[in-house]
Amino acid sequence: MMTKPAGLSFPASSNVSRMQPSSTLAAMQAAETLRAAGANVVDFGAGEPDFDTPDYIKQAATEAMRAGQTKYTPTAGTRQLQQAIIDFYAGEFGADYERSQVMATSGGKQAIFNAVVTLINPGDEVLMAKPYWVTFPEIVVFAGGVPVFIETEETGFLLKAYQIERELTPRTKLIILNSPSNPSGRVIPPAEFKRIMELLTERGIYVISDECYLRFVYPPAEVFSAASLPPELRRRLCIAGSFSKTYAMTGWRMGYALAGREWTQAMLKVQSHSTSNPNSVAQHAAAEAFNGPQDAVGAMLAEYSVRRAWLLDALKEVPGLTCNEPEGAFYAFPNISGCLKGTVRTSREFAQQLLDEELTVVTDGAAFGCEDYLRMSYATSREQLQEGLKRIKRFAEKLH
Ligand code: GLU
Repeated sequence: MMTKPAGLSFPASSNVSRMQPSSTLAAMQAAETLRAAGANVVDFGAGEPDFDTPDYIKQAATEAMRAGQTKYTPTAGTRQLQQAIIDFYAGEFGADYERSQVMATSGGKQAIFNAVVTLINPGDEVLMAKPYWVTFPEIVVFAGGVPVFIETEETGFLLKAYQIERELTPRTKLIILNSPSNPSGRVIPPAEFKRIMELLTERGIYVISDECYLRFVYPPAEVFSAASLPPELRRRLCIAGSFSKTYAMTGWRMGYALAGREWTQAMLKVQSHSTSNPNSVAQHAAAEAFNGPQDAVGAMLAEYSVRRAWLLDALKEVPGLTCNEPEGAFYAFPNISGCLKGTVRTSREFAQQLLDEELTVVTDGAAFGCEDYLRMSYATSREQLQEGLKRIKRFAEKLH
């Protein structure tokens, strides 16, 4: 007698079974699917600049391609890119990184991934402020670590040293900082950042500082990199950086890590067996992004600033929504608890029904650990913002 073939369900490893898929990428996918079907979608989901990559950067890529720069590079990236990263951090923040402490990665995400998996053992606790970027806990879980969430609602989501101190245990190994924060847009002021790093240094805790929105800060908040701290506060620090947002280069997948020599060595080992090196042509583009004129960044910041002001005003007109002023990045993170009624009981249901009824994409707050919130990216045109706000207002009015 023939035995029945085994079921086709895929026996995912326990590391992967514990992970959730990325909800920011799911929101992007939902928008893409609707657009492909010809729908008139408004997309506040993707944390992706609507600007094109500046021409001088594209030019560098074209030249690299024509010059045959199409081969493997060192795992840490080309010398030219390493030097561009070192020079940028020296020029902007007075930091003194050496080549052995710098590596290029395929997007900022790979820098964070490398940093977490090289440090975390099963059971190690990893702190992160709530709301957190969706990918932080998933990488920790993948590595067998235990994400520990720091409550920050009492300070309007601004992370303070005392809130970290409350969560430290003998098992705490690492904290992931993210200022400006995705999704809250909060920016840790330099003095508080220093206090945080002093506390963590004293307790021997490792730190990943995800600085992917570094340059998008709205005065009076200040641009601040952990690289500008004195060396004794940077002994257990890994900075994860990205070209994606600053230079509108999301598709090029270029990021970098700056860390101590030994941590960098371990990350290089992982990268040498995963992606080998980031794309060679994109590395030339990234080096030029740092070496070339920075006017495009200023122009993008100025435009985000106008959109931010407009959006914050417009959100005041939406019944049931309240929104803190984000000081950086390009997200608004409104509280929607006043809208959770009837068939809309959760932020997930809000986001889903808004998509179904108004073809408008947002990311639900639950994905970032905050049930009563929504994330809206304003890295989209003013026209889209206006149309989207009209739809959200109409949707919220129906709930009241
Ligand atoms: N970081 C962006 C976001 O949160 C891009 C998507 C992603 O990589 O998660 O929307």
